Order: sequence, then C-alpha cells, then structure tokens
Amino acid sequence: MFDVIIIGAGVIGSSIAMHLSQYKMKVLVLEKNPEACMETSKANSGIIHAGYDAVRGSLKEKLNVECSLEMEALSKRLHFLYKKIGSLLVFREDEKEVAELLYKEGLERGIPGIRLIDQEELREKEPHLCHDYVGALYAPSAAIVCPFQLTYSLLENAIQNGVSFHSMEEVKSIDKVDNSFLVTTQKNSYQTRYVMNAAGVKADQISAFIGDNSFTITPRRGEYRVLDHTEDHKVKHILFQIPTPHSKGVLALPTVHGNLLLGPTSVLQDSRTAKPMTEEGLAEISLHREKLFPEMNLEEKTIRIFSGLRATSSEGDFIIRESSVPGFFHAAGIDSPGLSSAFSIGKMITELLLEKEYFEMKEDYLATNPEYRNLSDYPLSVQKEMIQENPEYGIPLCRCEDVSLADVKNAIGRPLGARTIGGVKRRVRPGSGRCQGGFCEEKIAEILAQELDISLEEVYKENALWIKGDKHV
Ligand SMILES: Cc1cc2nc3c(=O)[nH]c(=O)nc-3n(C[C@H](O)[C@H](O)[C@H](O)COP(=O)(O)OP(=O)(O)OC[C@H]3O[C@@H](n4cnc5c(N)ncnc54)[C@H](O)[C@@H]3O)c2cc1C
Repeated sequence: MFDVIIIGAGVIGSSIAMHLSQYKMKVLVLEKNPEACMETSKANSGIIHAGYDAVRGSLKEKLNVECSLEMEALSKRLHFLYKKIGSLLVFREDEKEVAELLYKEGLERGIPGIRLIDQEELREKEPHLCHDYVGALYAPSAAIVCPFQLTYSLLENAIQNGVSFHSMEEVKSIDKVDNSFLVTTQKNSYQTRYVMNAAGVKADQISAFIGDNSFTITPRRGEYRVLDHTEDHKVKHILFQIPTPHSKGVLALPTVHGNLLLGPTSVLQDSRTAKPMTEEGLAEISLHREKLFPEMNLEEKTIRIFSGLRATSSEGDFIIRESSVPGFFHAAGIDSPGLSSAFSIGKMITELLLEKEYFEMKEDYLATNPEYRNLSDYPLSVQKEMIQENPEYGIPLCRCEDVSLADVKNAIGRPLGARTIGGVKRRVRPGSGRCQGGFCEEKIAEILAQELDISLEEVYKENALWIKGDKHV
C-alpha cells in the first residue's frame, strides 16, 4: 500500500514528489511515457516570470510571485541552469497605456526593480530591436531556466529521497475501495491512500475516473522556432509584446543554452496530442519576427520547430484542491505560468495533504542533488585531467554542442537516467545543434542499447521506437 500516488511526471508531478519526499511516506510517481518531462514541461518558453500580469487574487498571481523569489536558491540547491536576464515588455506609442497599467500592477505586487524605460535605454539594452518601439516595461527579476533540467532535478531529488518512479505505466482506471484507491495501469494495480492528479492536458480525464467532472481542460497549442547560435547576440532579454487575453503573445528570448527562441502562438485545439508545427503557426511567427527584428533571416537560421500544449482550465485559474472525493487531490489546469509556479504548487498541495494527516519529516532528507556537468563546462586545464582519468571524455560524440561519450554515459547512468534519445538530448544536448542529430543520433541509440542492456530495436527516440534514418519520429 502506498501513501501517495502521483499521476504524471511533468514539472508539477515532479515538484509534488520532491516536496513529499521530505516526509516519512511511501510515494509512487506513475508516468505513461518512457521518461519524465516528455509533454508540456519540455515544450515551453522556459521563463520564470516576474509575476506582474496574472489576474489579481488568482492562484496564478500568488504562486508565481512566491515561486519566482525561490527559484534562484532552488537552482543552486538542485543544480539546474537559471539565468536572471530580465524581461522587457516592449511597446509602441499607442500601446503605452497598457504598459503603464501593468507597471502599476507590478509596483503593487512588489515585483523587484520593475520600472518603465524610455527608447534610449531600450536601444542600449536591445540594439537589434525594431526602432518603432518607444519604450518598455523592464522587470529585472524575470529569468530563464532549462525546463528539462528543472523537471529532472525535482524528480531526481525525490528519487534519491526514496520516491519510486514507474515510467511507461498509463493510468487506465481508478477505483475507490473503502478508504483507499485502486490505481490501475496497463501493467499493474496499486493501492494507495491518497492520489495527486498532475496529468497536464489529461487531468480532467483522470478526474473523471473518480466521478469528479467539476472542470474541463482545453489544450491551447503554442508553436516555436529555434534559431542557431549565430543569432545569440541579437536578443539579450526576454522580449514580450503587449499581451492578448489568452496568451503573453509571441515573444523572443535566448534559451539558457544560447539559442534564440521565437514563439509561442496560441491556438485552441481538440486533440490532447501536440502537433508538429502548422503552416499558420510558422506564418504567425514570421509576422512577429518582422515586427520585432526586420533584419533577421528566419528561414536560414531556424534549426528546429516544435510545439507544446497549454492545459487551459474551465476555471481560468490553476486548480489546486482536494476533489469532491476525499483523499484525491488536483494540480490541474496548470498552464502558464506553471513553470514559474511549480515549486510553490508542489508546496501548496503538500500542505493540503498535511492538513488532513500528520506525516513526520525525515531526519536524513537529502536537500541537494549531485551536480552533473559536461566536459565542455570546465576550463581546458580541468578537461585535460578529466580525460586522463576517464579517456571516454576524450571521445567526441556531438561536435555541434561539444558532447563527449562520457557525458552521454553519465546522462544515462544518473539516478533519473535518460531512457530515450530525446532524454539524452535534453540532459546533455547531443542533437540540439545545427545538424539536429544527423551525425550522432545512431551512435546515441547504440550507447543507450549498450548501457540499458537492450537491443537496438528496443531503443525509443521519444514516445516511439527509434528507426534508423527516420527523421520524423
Ligand atoms: C507554449 C507554452 C509556453 C509556456 N511557457 C511558459 C513559460 O515560459 N513560463 C511558465 O511559467 N510556464 C510556461 N508554460 C506553462 C508550463 O509549461 C506548464 O504549466 C507546465 O509545464 C505544466 O506541467 P505539468 O506537469 O502540469 O504538465 P506536463 O508536463 O504535461 O506533465 C503531465 C504528465 O502527465 C502524464 N500523464 C497524463 N496522463 C497520464 C496517465 N493516464 N497516466 C500516467 N501519466 C499520465 C503525461 O505524460 C505528462 O508527462 C508554457 C506552456 C506552453 C504550452
């Protein structure tokens, strides 16, 4: 019998797992995919928002503001990339009023250092930006993170503190049996006293298993273009445009690894599966690129396109509560700013559980994770020593992103090790560069097979098995 089963290993399920792992309880995370972080948590802008624009009094406002203040310390404790680069909400003359209103909101919410800047300062900060913009709302506390590293580090911390993680187990039904739940996947049935629903765009379907139809989730697609490293220097901050009622608009920002990201769009869709990029999405991003950076060559510089699904709830806010069925909790409708609020969402739902039942804290809770860095993160003198100690650091695997054989093996061997080609890429970056895996993908597949002691035919690329030479999985 488990104390808690968490359904879903995105950033929210992983944060819940990390918080619960501080207490003496038996916890299991169930994930339908081959790995954690393969849905919305892997396909977003990676922004830790300053928190000036969520609806007043909403959970989104409270948890974003709270969490953004915690993120830097958390990044040091769990070792994920975090860069406080600040955001600029750029405006034209006729948009100034909206920016002023948001500035007032920011001041009232205590957003650190928020201020309006004029065109001269904007030009200094972003010299490549179109000159039509006359000023910006500057929020220096806004930051970028690696969303994959954030998710992995939360779950890895939970695992090293005793939480069990079962991937490739899709929850198919949940039955209330006396004072517990029977959670059934395609492989097993598990009994648990409490359930945490962190199933992203499928959270309403999970809720329906126990007869709670109090909310629905509508997926809202967001599409992106990723540009190569030659464009890095052109954007230094997170550049927002004036928001629309449904999204923060198409934006431009650097990723923590130095690629320029343009997107996302915002389109409602019926299917719960993220589609590849659409023609309309590409066209919309091009239009915004023209507005922001008229001189940028988007076609030549794009190395990847992708999309993610926001889990928009019928309640217009995060749904974090115990359901009408006692013992069953929701962390649902976690669309943006979900990443920016993840730590606080995990904390809040843990507190809701602790209000129901007392659990003792562990005396031996490990608050930090081991740090994993690639060979290329170290200065040359250290690299030499590392290669002497382990010659596999000297065997290059991905030349675009400078990744060695030892880096890839580390990614597979760590407590929450990679199980797919995509998982290796999200941990140590082979395949993230200009060639997008053209040169190293087969090699990565062979190493996964060897390290996991499986055949090449059993290696997953993402959700589907890897097929040699197939670029479309
Ligand atoms: C385009 C876009 C841009 C965004 N940008 C930002 C941003 O810059 N900053 C920000 O703060 N937020 C942003 N967000 C929001 C943020 O990405 C999400 O709030 C967050 O990733 C949601 O995490 P999650 O764990 O709830 O969902 P997910 O990551 O989708 O995780 C849910 C998990 O549940 C699993 N699951 C579902 N059903 C089952 C089942 N039956 N059995 C087992 N497992 C199941 C899924 O496989 C999945 O792994 C953005 C979102 C999108 C789409």
